[in-house]
Amino acid sequence: MLVAVLLARFVRARWGYRFRSRERFDAWHGRRLARFLRRLRAVPYYASDVRPAGVDGSEASRTARVELSDLPIVDKGVLLEHFDGLNTRGVRLVDALGVALEAERTRDFAPLVAGDLTVGLSSGTSGRRGAFLVSPRERMLWAGTVLARVLDRRSVGQLLRPWAPPVRIAFFLRAGGNLYESVASSRIRFSFHDLTEPFDSHLAALDAGAAAGAGPHVLVAPASVLAALADRAREGRLRIRPRLVISVAEVLEPEVAERIRRAWGRAPRQVYQATEGLLALTCEHGSLHLNEESVRVEREWLDAERTRFTPIVTDFDRRTQIIARYRLDDVLRVDPAAPRCPCGRVTTVLAGVDGRADAVLRLPHASGLREVELFPDVVRQAMAVASEAYADWRIRQRGLDLHVSLAEPAPGAEVRVRELLERLLRSHGGRVDVVFDAWEPADPTVKARRIVREPASA
Ligand SMILES: [Zn+2]
Repeated sequence: MLVAVLLARFVRARWGYRFRSRERFDAWHGRRLARFLRRLRAVPYYASDVRPAGVDGSEASRTARVELSDLPIVDKGVLLEHFDGLNTRGVRLVDALGVALEAERTRDFAPLVAGDLTVGLSSGTSGRRGAFLVSPRERMLWAGTVLARVLDRRSVGQLLRPWAPPVRIAFFLRAGGNLYESVASSRIRFSFHDLTEPFDSHLAALDAGAAAGAGPHVLVAPASVLAALADRAREGRLRIRPRLVISVAEVLEPEVAERIRRAWGRAPRQVYQATEGLLALTCEHGSLHLNEESVRVEREWLDAERTRFTPIVTDFDRRTQIIARYRLDDVLRVDPAAPRCPCGRVTTVLAGVDGRADAVLRLPHASGLREVELFPDVVRQAMAVASEAYADWRIRQRGLDLHVSLAEPAPGAEVRVRELLERLLRSHGGRVDVVFDAWEPADPTVKARRIVREPASA
């Protein structure tokens, strides 16, 4: 039964969902949205929104049209506070968190709540951790979409030929592989590499597999882990030859993508995914398309030119834990003048995912009267100018200072970076004090973030 769900979605996401124009897509999307809104009647939290107060059950009130904009915008705080009313299975937050935290502690991700629900935890880099319930059906829809959208033609051909060897996929993860095991079958073989275990032992296992002719066809890992693997491959210390490289869980920066391309001769594809939903995937032409087939993305614009926004997402695929008008803590970028993607999809192409809202630096304007906002793409462009002078970099805003760390800096690198950052600030009318800190190697168990504005300490 569940496999049928996966296959049906795989077929639709790979060969279906083709629309001649954005107008046709919007009409279809509107019907999906209407169905989603009707389902909300059964969700306790929305009872009063989709069934206005004083309803008498008359025909008129039952058919009264509810618009998405009638619903409140929610965030992690609301989701945690109203957890019981925002899921359709009556699961309590304490029970969900209990299962999830125990799973993280024991690294055994098999336990479920309410019989068959998996619990995911959103990362806790800022404040409380969110809990997310996922049903087996939702996992299958997810897996069907991801496989259909990212696998290359050769891998799909191999999947469909029963006599061909199974497609080998190596997965580097910080959380459990429960979600991914759902798609393991005789046609796909996963190897999981838990990033809380020593990185070198994973490398040795991968390299030994490759030497025995059983290296992965597909490599899936967070961008920072892919970069580390690519560097070792270029140095000849890792012999895998993946034909498809997929970046997950972190922002894939252009220069990291280039490092990966140099190692294996192909550009990585990106799955931009939060615990809250599958938000965007790279198509075969390298464009990062919003997953608007399943997710409605409203835009809260951050700039007057309407190029950067915070997404507010409504996920049609989720029926257990309702994600409706959920504001993500991310900054996305679009190019309003971009032509339609040659792949034929009419869904929005992102010019970039700039990471979380606290990756936007806020520094004083020279007048002292207001703030200057520096978006991450602008900072990255500036840092790329001197990129031959260091192996890697990190920036932390603490108070009004920028703390910069450079890995393996060449002589004079700090002077150049200070100049670059000061010039960048001046061009925005601001000023900054740059402080250099020693480089600390990244902890592979923690989501890598290059630019962070730390909260003001009390
Ligand atoms: Zn495309």
